[in-house]
Amino acid sequence: MSRFIVIGGGAIGLNAAYQLARKKVGSVTLLEKGQVGDGSSSRAGGIITGLLWSETGVLARTISLRLYQELSADLERYGYQFQDVGCLNLFDASSWAEREALLPLYDRLGFGYEVLDAEQMRGRWPDLRPEADQIGLHDALGGYSEPHEFVPALARRCRDLGVEIRENARVNGLETRNGRVVGVQTDLGTLEADAVICAVHAWTVTFMAQCGARLPIKSFVHQRYVSSKLPEAAAIPAINANPQGGYLRPARLGTTDFRLLAGGETENRSEERVEDLSFHMAGLSAPASLRAQLTANLTPLVPKLGQTRWESEQVGLISFSLDGEPILGKLPQLPGLVVGAAFHSGGFAYSPVAGLLLAQLAAEERPSVDITSFSPARFAAEDSAAYLAKTVVQADAFRRRH
Ligand SMILES: Cc1cc2nc3c(=O)[nH]c(=O)nc-3n(C[C@H](O)[C@H](O)[C@H](O)COP(=O)(O)OP(=O)(O)OC[C@H]3O[C@@H](n4cnc5c(N)ncnc54)[C@H](O)[C@@H]3O)c2cc1C
Repeated sequence: MSRFIVIGGGAIGLNAAYQLARKKVGSVTLLEKGQVGDGSSSRAGGIITGLLWSETGVLARTISLRLYQELSADLERYGYQFQDVGCLNLFDASSWAEREALLPLYDRLGFGYEVLDAEQMRGRWPDLRPEADQIGLHDALGGYSEPHEFVPALARRCRDLGVEIRENARVNGLETRNGRVVGVQTDLGTLEADAVICAVHAWTVTFMAQCGARLPIKSFVHQRYVSSKLPEAAAIPAINANPQGGYLRPARLGTTDFRLLAGGETENRSEERVEDLSFHMAGLSAPASLRAQLTANLTPLVPKLGQTRWESEQVGLISFSLDGEPILGKLPQLPGLVVGAAFHSGGFAYSPVAGLLLAQLAAEERPSVDITSFSPARFAAEDSAAYLAKTVVQADAFRRRH
C-alpha cells in the first residue's frame, strides 16, 4: 500500500488529502505546522467563478464548480453548503474590452455566461445599483463558500475517510534518497512516503528554497471584512466589482443571520516576504483607512451596505507567480514531490480541482486537465532568480480577482 504525505492544512492540502482518501490508493497523512485553517483559507472571501482568462483556468474551474456541488452534498452533514448564488464579474466600458475578447474562449469551451447591461442587472438583483455604463458578465454556476464552514467540515470528512491529520507538526525539509523524495523531516523525526504533496502557500518559496528549488512567487497582504447584521438577506450574487476596486457578496453566520462580506487589494503595498517557516498570518494587519474606502466605493453599488458597519476583519496573504498563473505539478529535479501554489486571489475557488490534480499526480494518474501551463518547470532559472531578487508592490503583480 502506498503512503502519501500532504504538507499544509489549508483548502488546497485538505482537498488533496480528501481526493487521495476517496481514491483508496494508500494511507494519507496531512501535516500542518499549526492548526488546520491557520493560513489564508480560513480568512478568504470564498468567491468562485469559472470565467477566468486562460483555457487551463476555465477547464480547471469547470471541474472545481462541479466538485463544489459534490462536496456540498458530501459535507452537508458536517455543516457545509455551497452557496450557488452565481457570480457577477463587473466591468466598466474601458475594462470590458479585455474581457470581451475572452468570450470566444468561453464559447469554444462551452462555459455558459450572460452579458448583462445595467438595467438588466438592476432588474435581476433588486439590491444592486450598477452605473449606467457598467457591464456584467454573469456566471450562473458560480457563488461562494463560507470558509468557516468549509474548512472544518472538510477536515472532519477527511478524518472520517481515514486521513491522519497531525496538527502542530511542522515539516522542516524533505527526505531524499538517490535523488528521489522519500519522505519529510519533522521535529519528531523522519516520516517516509511514496509521494509528498507540498501545499504550503505563502511559505512555498522559503520551503522549496531549502530543498534546492527556486519558485518565482510573490505574496501580498490581502484583507476582507464582514458587516454588521442586515434586517434581511441582500438580493445580490457574489460580485467581483472590478470598477469599484473590490468584491462583495452576501455572508451568513447562520441560517437567519445575514450580512455582507467585502474585500479589496492594497495596490501600493509592498510584497510580504515569508522568510521563516515559523511565520504566522495572525501577525499581519491592514490599514485602518481601508474600511472607509471600501464603504465609499461599494455603497453606491449596493446601497444596503450603508445600513451597516464593518464588524470583523480577516487579514492574510495572496500569492502570484511570475506569469500570474498557478504553479501545480511535479518538479523534474525532485521526483516524488508534487507542488501546488500561487493560486492568486483564487486559491479557495481552485481548491477542489487543485486537490484533485495534486492527488492524481501523486498517485501517478493522468491529470483530468492538461496542466502544462501550470508546470513548475515552465520558469527559466535566471528569470526566477531575477524575480525573487527584486521587491515589488501589489500593483506590479498580476490583477487576478478570484
Ligand atoms: C482576505 C483574503 C480573501 C480571499 N478571498 C478569496 C476568494 O474570495 N476566493 C478565492 O478563491 N480565494 C480567495 N483568497 C485566496 C485564498 O484564500 C488562497 O489562495 C487559498 O486559501 C490558499 O490555500 P492554501 O491551502 O494553499 O493555503 P493556506 O490556507 O495558507 O494553507 C497553507 C497551510 O500550510 C501550513 N504550513 C506552512 N508551512 C508548513 C510546514 N513547513 N509544515 C506544515 N505546515 C505548513 C500553514 O500553516 C497553512 O495552514 C483570499 C485570500 C485572502 C487573504
